[in-house]
Amino acid sequence: MHIVVCIKQVPDTKNVRIDPDTHTLVRQGVESIINPFDMFAVEGALKIKDENGARVTVLTMGPPQAAEALRDTLGLGADDAVLLSDRAFAGSDTWATSTTLAAAVRKMGDVDLVICGKQAVDGDTAQVGPEMAALLDVPFATFVKKIDVARSGSITVHRQTDEGTEVWKVQLPALVTVIKELGEPRVPSLRHKMRAKKAEIAVWGNSELGLDPNSTGLCGSFTQVVRVFSPQRRGSRVQLEGSIENQVEQLFQYLKKARVPGL
Ligand SMILES: Cc1cc2nc3c(=O)[nH]c(=O)nc-3n(C[C@H](O)[C@H](O)[C@H](O)COP(=O)(O)OP(=O)(O)OC[C@H]3O[C@@H](n4cnc5c(N)ncnc54)[C@H](O)[C@@H]3O)c2cc1C
Repeated sequence: MHIVVCIKQVPDTKNVRIDPDTHTLVRQGVESIINPFDMFAVEGALKIKDENGARVTVLTMGPPQAAEALRDTLGLGADDAVLLSDRAFAGSDTWATSTTLAAAVRKMGDVDLVICGKQAVDGDTAQVGPEMAALLDVPFATFVKKIDVARSGSITVHRQTDEGTEVWKVQLPALVTVIKELGEPRVPSLRHKMRAKKAEIAVWGNSELGLDPNSTGLCGSFTQVVRVFSPQRRGSRVQLEGSIENQVEQLFQYLKKARVPGL
């Protein structure tokens, strides 16, 4: 079984700042981490590898320094890593990102399962997984917290929903997006870390993928960020203290003073 895990390097969220002029994230001097949901995706793939045997390839699209994130996952036990990096991919929206990632999965040829995180904690759209599945024309399941591999070319996934858990049988090849409950990421082992240090990371640009340049990067992006801003805080906040009864009384008086209709 060949599993591809898509990981994205994101700024450490505690440090997210927006450039007021360009409306883009300020990345300079900000530490990068692997998107936390993608760490659960890596763990899920490695669990399948431990229990059923599988080849795990980790894939990212990003600048050259994203290779370090890939190397970290090799240290956890992933077998191969591919970095998609090319000026032609710069400025990609989610569709152009998905187009590029899907082209890489197609180029690999023998992929049974693609695992993505539920969402990236910076872009937060949760679009890339489902878009890739549409482009690859494979079934997909989101919010997956458990994956069981059957022998019949299918997997059984447990999905977390607002109402509870749904259990789906999904025919392979397929794509899933995963949540925290899939499993706490393991710590790197010395053996894998040593291998990761020397491992060669494949770097593919558009000459390897052969995409129409109009479908990648800014040219292939149908959406445009018009404005990004931090919301202004409206009014001052009041924190209620004391016993519940006391807090209810305070809240009642506060709403009365604010002339809330009906009080
Ligand atoms: C017009 C426009 C221009 C943009 N320009 C830039 C830019 O110049 N530079 C920039 O950094 N961002 C840019 N972005 C943001 C970029 O579109 C998103 O970072 C990207 O498409 C992923 O979307 P997301 O973060 O919402 O991921 P989600 O859809 O929330 O991610 C879900 C999952 O998909 C996978 N995934 C997402 N992105 C990647 C990736 N790159 N590699 C591997 N797996 C991935 C991960 O498994 C992740 O958990 C731009 C966006 C727009 C709309």
